[in-house]
Amino acid sequence: MVSKSRYKATECEKFFAEHYLVPWKDRPPEIPSGMADTGKDFHHWRAWCVARMADDCTPYDQTWNQEYLKTHTVTAEARELIEDDWPNIDPETILAAELYLTVGRNGEPLTHEPWSLDELPERHPDSWAGGIIDLALMIDAENISISDYKTGWSTSNIMPDEGVPYAMAMFAHYPSVQTVYWQWDFVRLRLKAGREFTRDQFDSGELAAIVESWEQRQDKLRAKFDAGESMTANPFASSCAWCGLACEHRQAFRTELAFPPPATDEDARRLAGIIQAAKKYEGRARDQLHAYLAEHGGSIAIDGDTSASLDSYETRRYPLRSTLAALGVELPEKAVDWDVPLDSLTISGTELNRMAKTKKRVGMLDAIGAAAQTGAQTKLNISRATLDEKRGAAA
Ligand code: SF4
Repeated sequence: MVSKSRYKATECEKFFAEHYLVPWKDRPPEIPSGMADTGKDFHHWRAWCVARMADDCTPYDQTWNQEYLKTHTVTAEARELIEDDWPNIDPETILAAELYLTVGRNGEPLTHEPWSLDELPERHPDSWAGGIIDLALMIDAENISISDYKTGWSTSNIMPDEGVPYAMAMFAHYPSVQTVYWQWDFVRLRLKAGREFTRDQFDSGELAAIVESWEQRQDKLRAKFDAGESMTANPFASSCAWCGLACEHRQAFRTELAFPPPATDEDARRLAGIIQAAKKYEGRARDQLHAYLAEHGGSIAIDGDTSASLDSYETRRYPLRSTLAALGVELPEKAVDWDVPLDSLTISGTELNRMAKTKKRVGMLDAIGAAAQTGAQTKLNISRATLDEKRGAAA
């Protein structure tokens, strides 16, 4: 079976192996993950809300969240998300919340089960691709919108193609549908992003080809695991933030750097110490990586969408004397009251630039720019590709 979750899991071989290849009985107990619990609580809340909107055919009522929180125990973070939540959904369009759909290898519709967030529903044995759809809205007979809730802070932990198995399942189960609108709903940030899939892409096998490539990646890892090779842990994988495995990367974080809210002076001192140590080690690691990249081409791909690079930028220094001269003010050789070396002073470029951005100061930027001393620097960046960059790479 191929799904978005399984494919994303392949970013970290160890995560994939322990979640999908090691038999249940042999899996080590997981360290509880607050982020995963928050995600689960939020999905529960939305499912409850959507079911109520559909049953009563009424839009969301802003008193529901407090009502829900009185009867459900959730994490502190989920409580904040739920208190702030305001699902803007037309109840007449609701098709389902938490719907489990799968398709077979030839695009035939198979599993179609409501998903209980606590129990695994029965999956058709021939299922090839699919997943759980957080929210499906039937806009009209030909158009369906499906949403995937993201409860973390990151907007880059997504892949442009991750809606593919869901879109395939929708086209298979709903033959009148011509377009599936896939939407990431970053609930914490109140942001949405999306893409469209068309029936032509389903009929022509374009979507199936993407799922096949995911399957090949899974098969490759399975073969490696079966051969007894060690499965590499990748701390840049998107699942890392949610992972409950006690791997070498997470172990130190979980045990040494667990941050319970400080209750005593001693706790507070410990936190201060951790911040100091983290700064120091980060600084050293950055210096060394910077030096390495400067000698070896300026960038390296780390894994998947993540890379480390040295980005060049121009620096500008605005010496006090020449900048004021550019503004029409001449300074004396020496400060009048104290012996201050005026030639060693500079003016804040941020302030100057801010001031130059008004209509009445047209030309000021050019004048101070001519007085500035420019240089070049490089800055170390470790970042994941943005959605637009991923789309560009996939095109
Ligand atoms: S913590 Fe991160 S690196 Fe370690 S197994 Fe989990 S996903 Fe992989």
